[in-house]
Order: sequence, then C-alpha cells, then structure tokens
Amino acid sequence: MSRIVYVNGEYLPEEEAKVSVFDRGFLFADGVYEVTSVLGGKLIDFEGHKIRLQRSLNELDMPAPEAMDDLLEIHRELVTKNEIEDGLVYLQITRGAPSDRDFAFPGPDVKPTLVLFTQNKPGLATAPLAKVGIKVISVEDIRWGRRDIKTVQLLYPSMGKMMAKKAGADDAWMIEDGFVTEGTSNNAYIVKGNKIITRALSNDILHGITRAAVLRFAREAQMEVEERNFTIEEAKEADEAFITSASMFVMPVVSVDGVTLGDGTPGNVAPRLREIYLDESLKTAI
Ligand code: PMP
Repeated sequence: MSRIVYVNGEYLPEEEAKVSVFDRGFLFADGVYEVTSVLGGKLIDFEGHKIRLQRSLNELDMPAPEAMDDLLEIHRELVTKNEIEDGLVYLQITRGAPSDRDFAFPGPDVKPTLVLFTQNKPGLATAPLAKVGIKVISVEDIRWGRRDIKTVQLLYPSMGKMMAKKAGADDAWMIEDGFVTEGTSNNAYIVKGNKIITRALSNDILHGITRAAVLRFAREAQMEVEERNFTIEEAKEADEAFITSASMFVMPVVSVDGVTLGDGTPGNVAPRLREIYLDESLKTAI
C-alpha cells in the first residue's frame, strides 16, 4: 500500500503528490513545520503544536492556509488512512508558489502550500535507546537569530547531526557565547543534585512543546527546575543530562564530548520524567 499524503486539500498516494518548483519552501526555505507524535493511534499534544504553528506563521507574516481550522481532522484522517498506530505526522506550510522566483513576498493571490505526511514508527514509545541513552558532542551554534520560529531552514542542524555521527555520537548540542542553546532537533537539559537545569525561553531556542509539558510535570512532581544558561563544562560535570522532543519524548544523555556522565547509565531523573511524560500525555492524547 502506498502512503497517502495530504497536499492542498487532496489526499493522494505519495507518488502522485506534487509541489511546484517555484514553491518558496523549495527556493527560499520560506516555510514552517510541526511534528506531532502518534501513540496508540492518537495525537500527542496536538493543541500545543497547533498554537505554535500559528505563532510561527504570525512571526513571519505568512498567511494561514484555508484548511487551518481542519488540521485536527486532516491529522486524524492521515493516521487512519495510513493505519498508524505509533509514529509521527509531519506538517509543513510554505508561502506558496508564485509564478516566478522573487525575493519579495508574493501578494494575496498566491495561496500558501499545505503538506502533511505520516511516518510509521512501531514501538516509538518503547525505543531501546531510552534504556541506554545517547551520546552528544558540542558544535558551534551558527544558526540565525529567530530559532523560536519553527522554520524549515534545517541545513545547519543536519550538518550538526552529521558532525555527531562522524564523531561516533548520536547528536550535537549547539554552543553560543559559551552556553548550550539546544540540540539539533531537541531541547537540552542537565541534572545536578536532583535539580533540572535548562536554558530559559527566548529567541535563541525553539519553544519545545515537549519541554513545556515535561517542565510542568516535573514541577507537579515536586522536582526542582531552574531555567538558566549552562555551559558545556557544566554539562560534563552533571549527574545526568537529557533531551526532549516530540519524537524522542525524554531521552537520556550519557556522554558529552566523550566525557561519561555519572556511571554512564541514564540515571534516575530522566527515566522517571520519561515515564511521567508518556503516562500523562497518553491520558490527553486525541
Ligand atoms: N529544538 C529544536 C531546534 C527542534 O528542532 C525541536 C524539534 N523540532 C525541539 C527543540 C523540540 O521541540 P518539540 O518538543 O516541540 O518537538
């Protein structure tokens, strides 16, 4: 069975889905996106992703597609059509396809492009990696200054991921002015003396939907949370570290730049937060 994708109002087999070569997402990375996870056939934190999507559009003065009010229905339809039990729904909106390439934004006659597709990930919540944790290296953060907007400009994060792979690690944490900003596609945390430390929200990082939920659950469980900058040196001396994202949930980090954290196992805090996050999110999945 071919995967069914959604393009501008139509559900099509992926081979038949088309976007113009003049699409501004393709030519200028003039697009925003969201990734929502699916567990047991249900969407995790859909409302949070939808709110952030609208914010990204607002920040870029990008018109919303006509189907903006039908996004939940479209997500659900794709999950059903593709028989996704566990996996992801990827959504992208671009500023559409004018008749020619031009740096200036097109007028209101050009409609935004809306594309959604699913990714099947059986056993997403029980990933064996969570039992052993991941290794990260540090790389310089040379991205633009509006990382709070979830744009499709992902070349540098891709390069960071490749630098990590080349170094025998799983991911990279990015460093700006000596402080960790975030991972290539996740938010970064360290744990010191049971205190969870993560960079505060600003234009320097993406405002992770998983981050918001995890910090809320941590506080509800009486865990101490400190939102402040931390250095990579501090990370190397931490008791534990972890990352959060919609597709990884809470994933322990066991090594930073080749330095083993604690006893090299995921520790206590990250696995506990992962469990709480999964339990609580499943309760409100739709
Ligand atoms: N930071 C960056 C740079 C990301 O790309 C992502 C995931 N898209 C995140 C953080 C985590 O965000 P979320 O929890 O909403 O998936």
